Amino acid sequence: MDRQQILDLYEWHPGACFRHPAKGDVATAQIKTIRPRVGEVETIRACEDCVIELEQERWVEASRNGVDYQPGHAGEALL
Ligand SMILES: [Zn+2]
Repeated sequence: MDRQQILDLYEWHPGACFRHPAKGDVATAQIKTIRPRVGEVETIRACEDCVIELEQERWVEASRNGVDYQPGHAGEALL
């Protein structure tokens, strides 16, 4: 899969990347929702570069553990 195919698995909206909040509003995808027991639901968003990086980490971890890698789930626990 190439970069664009992976990016196409996500919905992109302007927002702040969790790793690069200083960049301001960029195209971001929601990768995680945190539901604290108290307080508001928090969504974690990542920019294109960070999504690709997270996907690569998942791919490496999947092959290391002998499990199937399925793109489109950056930010979710693999195992
Ligand atoms: Zn980023």
